[in-house]
Amino acid sequence: MKTIGIFGGTFNPIHYGHLRMAQELAVGLNIDSIRFIPSANPPHKSTHNISASHRAAMVDLAIANNPLFHLDDQELKRTGHSYTIDTLQNLRDELGHEVSIILLMGSDAFTQFDTWHRWQEIIMLCHIAMVQRPQASKIEPSRKLSPVLENFLHNHYTETTDDLYTSPAGHITMRQITALDISSTAIRDAFQHSKSARYLMPDSVIDYIQTHQLYK
Ligand code: ATP
Repeated sequence: MKTIGIFGGTFNPIHYGHLRMAQELAVGLNIDSIRFIPSANPPHKSTHNISASHRAAMVDLAIANNPLFHLDDQELKRTGHSYTIDTLQNLRDELGHEVSIILLMGSDAFTQFDTWHRWQEIIMLCHIAMVQRPQASKIEPSRKLSPVLENFLHNHYTETTDDLYTSPAGHITMRQITALDISSTAIRDAFQHSKSARYLMPDSVIDYIQTHQLYK
């Protein structure tokens, strides 16, 4: 079965933690292509007044030259909150049911998964590949999984990678990747304090931020 990775985020801005995570999962899970989907109007996060089109433009620059990576700006075209369930439903309508869709996320995002809109239906539309994110990269202390989420993980967890290719949706896998303790929060802070963000993100994205005077 063909496999498509879905990587949603605010990407405010995109950095090497995102890019390396997507690359290692693409290779490690044999994913045919990964769609980066910037959230236009995230229900759980502030965008710090950086428009969705700037965030998408930075993703576009960052993934240029990687044939596995594609920008999908569908959430920019919708009004209201950007809900993952709506995005997945659109993808299913577009791709049909004979494609495996794998939603990529860091452990910090998964700890809040049970607050996502219609979260229990999401697993009917895709698999989830979760990676451990270095705890120190988040300003907030790490949250443990709620009992309901523990149970959800237990019910869908698989160690058999084949499960991801033989069914279109329904399984959760956890993968080890190179731990990069990089966050958009720390990068925004660096720009705000005129510190260098070099080697935390692509130079092309740094140039874009400087040209458009973002994160001042
Ligand atoms: P912020 O610091 O503004 O909260 P962020 O760095 O967490 O931003 P997001 O765009 O919110 O970035 O993250 C999108 C997805 O990428 C989430 O699933 C998150 O867990 C994952 N992610 C972000 N940074 C890393 C990293 N360094 N390593 C692994 N996964 C990451």
